[in-house]
Amino acid sequence: MAENQYDAIVIGAGPGGTTVASLLANDGKRVLLVDKNSSAGGKMITIHRDGHYYEMFPLNLIPYGPSLFEKLAETIGKADKVRNVAAAFPDDKVIILYHDREGKIHTLDSGDMATFKSLGMSLPDIVKSIAAVVKMLAISASPKKLASLNHISALDYMNSLNIPEITRVFITAAFGEGAFEMSSDKVPASHMIRAFKLGIDRKNHPTPRYYEGGVGGFFTTMAETVPEHGGKILWNTRVQSVNIEDGRAVGITTESGETYTAPLVISNAGIRQTVVKLVGEEHFPKAYAGRIKGLQSNLADVGWRYFTTEKVLPSSTFVYFPYNCLEPWSAFEEMKDGKKKPTSNYIYIGSKSVYPTVSPEGKQVIYAVMSSHPDPEQDLTQYLDYIESKMHLLFPKLFEDGVLERKEVMGLHEVYALGVDKIFDGQGGESYGIANSIGQSDEDRPTCDLPIRGLYCVGNDTEGFGVGTHRATESGFLTYQKITGKQIPV
Ligand SMILES: Cc1cc2nc3c(=O)[nH]c(=O)nc-3n(C[C@H](O)[C@H](O)[C@H](O)COP(=O)(O)OP(=O)(O)OC[C@H]3O[C@@H](n4cnc5c(N)ncnc54)[C@H](O)[C@@H]3O)c2cc1C
Repeated sequence: MAENQYDAIVIGAGPGGTTVASLLANDGKRVLLVDKNSSAGGKMITIHRDGHYYEMFPLNLIPYGPSLFEKLAETIGKADKVRNVAAAFPDDKVIILYHDREGKIHTLDSGDMATFKSLGMSLPDIVKSIAAVVKMLAISASPKKLASLNHISALDYMNSLNIPEITRVFITAAFGEGAFEMSSDKVPASHMIRAFKLGIDRKNHPTPRYYEGGVGGFFTTMAETVPEHGGKILWNTRVQSVNIEDGRAVGITTESGETYTAPLVISNAGIRQTVVKLVGEEHFPKAYAGRIKGLQSNLADVGWRYFTTEKVLPSSTFVYFPYNCLEPWSAFEEMKDGKKKPTSNYIYIGSKSVYPTVSPEGKQVIYAVMSSHPDPEQDLTQYLDYIESKMHLLFPKLFEDGVLERKEVMGLHEVYALGVDKIFDGQGGESYGIANSIGQSDEDRPTCDLPIRGLYCVGNDTEGFGVGTHRATESGFLTYQKITGKQIPV
């Protein structure tokens, strides 16, 4: 095989690209993996600075392990090369900080129903909440019942249940909006219910997970399969174009003008960038290109990253939510346009520094973020002020003398700098990519096989289910299956 000729070229070493590249390499294919970054993980790349490992938003990694991450490591024989450091802290908890109508903040342990008594819920309220949970679990087990909720929004579904306010708000905010980073008036109720099941399923997914070297470190280790099987990784290399000849993908050209050929080109660079910029919409059927250009982005996360000299958070994950925190998509547009200020939005607060080897002993790097519209050009001041005021209220220790070493903004420009390019006005900062919303999920979602022979798109924007990294990894498995015809059940 000529030096610049490969069996497959994968553009992008995000979770989706790395998954499909390493599965193909493990089959003995000569793969070229190209990424503009210097290591794998994409939007979930791990940064190593001042002794800390951290991502832009290292959240719950729903589902708990074992997950498709472990499945990937096992399939390609790398299970012994990665270490789940979260498993070393089994007492870790998700803590809910509920701000009620009267202004009181309740600290609730999500795994301990007894703490919910402190809310003063009546027995009938508790019974109604349990009945709603049982009903949702029953729906999650029935594909037919789930499908009947594909075109009903999570918000409408939850509003239709006769349940107490805290149950309605928490499930909708955490699993209707938070899991998909999309407002709950857009997310299908069926997906909220599936995410809820995954989120609470400790029987099949008992172990919290976070990896030595971070999420990006996990994928960088997986990517090593590529050179181990005769392929090559090009870091710090931006792909300029996907080359099309006689209606099929034949290779790529990099920004520095190098050309590589392969009968298979798999792009992890986002479906919009792939169609509009790398390939060129003139190569696609007009209706297809029009549809891709019209897809809606999901929400973004914006906030602060705090570096401390002392341990401030006892657990990895806190969710602060006020009783009226459910915002429709239109509210995020109003906030972006400066017509509305955030006043009662939920905030994710957390630190993976509670796990061993992630941060220097006793120190922490803490994130505190809220959802926002994905337009990177908007003024972030109002979000940052809102979050900081709540952090003063919730974690005053952070602001005591000498505790805060420094802080930095978790902005929207860094999202597309590390992940998928901004292609149109009003997008670029989205946490995942194409929204998982009604009309853009299940059979309405773009598939990984694009309408050009030999061209695939892997990652968050195509097939797959779940919270961001998990969805992208599942897409990697599904793309591999479509290419090879080999089944690896996901
Ligand atoms: C703020 C924030 C919060 C998030 N919260 C969570 C969470 O709590 N849990 C969770 O599971 N997920 C979360 N995610 C989402 C998760 O990071 C994404 O879903 C996931 O990274 C998507 O993976 P992907 O494979 O689609 O590609 P991406 O991660 O988008 O990676 C694409 C890769 O392609 C490369 N690339 C793009 N264009 C080119 C080019 N022209 N040439 C070469 N390389 C290129 C990029 O450098 C990048 O490495 C969050 C993301 C952000 C930003």
